Amino acid sequence: MVSNLESPISNFESNMALPEKIHLEIVTPEKQIFSGTVDAVTVPANTGYLGILPGHAPFLAELGIGEITYKVGIRIEYLSCSWGFIEVLPDRVALLAQTAETASDIDLKRAEEAKARAEKLLSSKDPNVDFARAQLALMRALSRINAAKHSAS
Ligand code: ATP
Repeated sequence: MVSNLESPISNFESNMALPEKIHLEIVTPEKQIFSGTVDAVTVPANTGYLGILPGHAPFLAELGIGEITYKVGIRIEYLSCSWGFIEVLPDRVALLAQTAETASDIDLKRAEEAKARAEKLLSSKDPNVDFARAQLALMRALSRINAAKHSAS
């Protein structure tokens, strides 16, 4: 007997050709950062970087701190993000990020200053310094600096 309880995923697999593009949405609690059609996406999951092509198997993961890149033709765009959720479907990737900035929105001077502050705290001998917090601030600053610099190069 054929079950009527087939999942949307198995329907997708049996009825549809593999998608050739990905609809990428990047939102923060404040605003939509990007919405568009792309060829490939790389995201900083908190277990490491994931490369996603059209037709990827569905999954959910946590977003960490790092660079998001997406490709449209030969053009690669860079963003920085920290924390959130990643939802992947064969034709769609949704990133709900605590913070996300496109390379053009990144204030490089602010990020360099945040990096210097974090490095100063990390090299301090003060027992009251919250080292884990300073380490995360450093990671956010480095991610912003890298996204801005990669975009410019
Ligand atoms: P800072 O110490 O400079 O505030 P931070 O890492 O503590 O940096 P977050 O708490 O991650 O900042 O972000 C707070 C808000 O400021 C978010 O909306 C984030 O997108 C924005 N933001 C932080 N740093 C930058 C930057 N260098 N350029 C553009 N926007 C930034």
